Amino acid sequence: RAHTLVKTRLEPACTLDGVCVRLFGNIELTEDVEEILDAGAEGVGLYRTEFLYMNREDTPDEDEQLEHYREVIEQMQGRPLTIRTLDLGADKALDTEAAHHCTNPALGLRAIRLCLHDPGLFRPQLKAVLRAAALGPVQMMLPMLSSLGELRQTLALIDEVKHELTVEGKAFDPAMPVGGMIEVPAAALAADMFAAELDFLSIGTNDLIQYTLAIDRVDDEVNYLYDPSHPAVLYLIRHIIQAGVRHQVPVSMCGEMAGDPLYSRLLLGLGLNSFSMQASSLLEVKDLIRHTRLDRITEPVETLMHTWDPDRRAELLEQIRNLLC
Ligand code: PEP
Ligand code: MG
Repeated sequence: RAHTLVKTRLEPACTLDGVCVRLFGNIELTEDVEEILDAGAEGVGLYRTEFLYMNREDTPDEDEQLEHYREVIEQMQGRPLTIRTLDLGADKALDTEAAHHCTNPALGLRAIRLCLHDPGLFRPQLKAVLRAAALGPVQMMLPMLSSLGELRQTLALIDEVKHELTVEGKAFDPAMPVGGMIEVPAAALAADMFAAELDFLSIGTNDLIQYTLAIDRVDDEVNYLYDPSHPAVLYLIRHIIQAGVRHQVPVSMCGEMAGDPLYSRLLLGLGLNSFSMQASSLLEVKDLIRHTRLDRITEPVETLMHTWDPDRRAELLEQIRNLLC
């Protein structure tokens, strides 16, 4: 089995009936690049940059960030890289006074909200990512969008820093694609609104499930209720994928669900054609995709979408996962 998986690394991620999907890796540190490339990822679908900011007193300036991004880009050798802007707060909080005083951090001033609240924090990163995009195929991804106002404000800020970079004579990519994470239920329901204004969408299931089911993702007491296959979650996922199709905007998924083999075929059946996951899941998920006939799972997936009984749903999910295609 281990031997077969090593071979899988070089094979295309296509189903038995010829439907090919894109498989990307999630990274947090420069060191993670090697691992995802070893596992056959075609690029990075999620670079979590908050780790540059954690466990230190100061914040990394524009040039320091650019150096980190440059290292990653060099290791990627021309493969695509999606850099997510700062997602600080809640489960990725700095150890600051403000963070301690927040009564409900997951619903508070985190991610894009924090960045727009503190442009002094945001601007150097926007500039560093724009400059990185001149060095390789880089796109920028915004976390936790919930309103169009936030997106427009961010796009205006990007325009402003582009002007600054021009005045400063620094090289950057003026056409760098900008995408957004769909991880707040409001954004999922209004996915068309975001698809109309962004270059790509990526489904963040870790937060989407947390907010949809009102289950704190880091609270062990309610962990048993954290269910990626809850009908409400699947509806939202399908809705986001379909909004992407309507607007001809690529939709990927970068939450943990994308790397869980229990859901790979279900997600294929819902129309997902791009996955980003941690290195350790890549080979197994690809192997499963390569042993799937999409035309055989469409029907059971449709049945699952119309079945409410939890036991029956669990059975169907197992069936889809284990079906011999
Ligand atoms: C997510 O929410 O699914 C996600 C990929 O982002 P993070 O886990 O970093 O919040
Ligand atoms: Mg998230």
